Amino acid sequence: QVQPILKGDRDKRLIPEGTSELRELYRTINVLMEDVNQQEIWRKRMLVDLTHELRTPLTSVLSRLEAILDGVYPKTEEHLQSMYDEIDRLSRLVDNMEKLSEAETARFKLNIQRVQMTKIVKGIHDAYLFLAKEKNMKFLFHHPNTPCIAEVDPDRIIQILSNIISNAIKYTPDGGTVEVGLSSNESETLIYCSDNGIGISEEDLPHIFKRFFRADPSRSRDIGGLGVGLSIVKALVEAHGGTIEVKSQVGRGSTFLVRIPHVIQRMP
Ligand code: ADP
Repeated sequence: QVQPILKGDRDKRLIPEGTSELRELYRTINVLMEDVNQQEIWRKRMLVDLTHELRTPLTSVLSRLEAILDGVYPKTEEHLQSMYDEIDRLSRLVDNMEKLSEAETARFKLNIQRVQMTKIVKGIHDAYLFLAKEKNMKFLFHHPNTPCIAEVDPDRIIQILSNIISNAIKYTPDGGTVEVGLSSNESETLIYCSDNGIGISEEDLPHIFKRFFRADPSRSRDIGGLGVGLSIVKALVEAHGGTIEVKSQVGRGSTFLVRIPHVIQRMP
């Protein structure tokens, strides 16, 4: 008679004496159920995250392809290669779908490689040149004075910076300015992205890294996404042992500062 006893656990009076094993079993099942529910929540979140991650780059490639087909964008090898790289990155992203949800729980493994950070940051800047040009923006890249070598997961760094740079372009009106650059000291690389766009209010600033948070959704409904990009960004930066900081003023613009240690301190 498992059913009434399990039901009775909620109402202790219905449980007969000597059923401690069954109570234990009930508790274990409850714990397992919580685990299943948690996994279900992660799965749903992952789907939302993935849609967000795919939309911006796909729109970028699609609009460039359309422009080529309409004959208003030159079909140079450089442009084709840049689109190929973007699609290649997306297909790897799809392969790694699971890692996206794991990013939140910091359980995933980074594929650490020794890389030139300048090359990576410049590469992402180049990938967004077209979108920035479409909005008549001043879109600058500042070369660092010293080499910036770091041991990071390059795909994750690309994911972090794509989100921040695409936001800067998204939340800056036509004709605005976005500046991207990096520098390095003995322990870390600092990457920054500044815009003179709509900015974020003091009240909203502490919340922008929370999942699904969107400052003033009515104002940014047309330009924004679902408010998940920055929560993924934060999880990925922290997985590298780094930090992310934002300074912003409404109507004046925002600056995002990402600090990534040259070498991740591994847990003993
Ligand atoms: P979204 O998909 O809405 O862009 P994000 O998680 O990337 O989601 O960003 C969360 C919110 O932070 C955005 O909805 C927007 O209100 C704000 N935000 C992010 N970057 C900027 C920026 N460069 N300028 C102004 N607001 C920004």
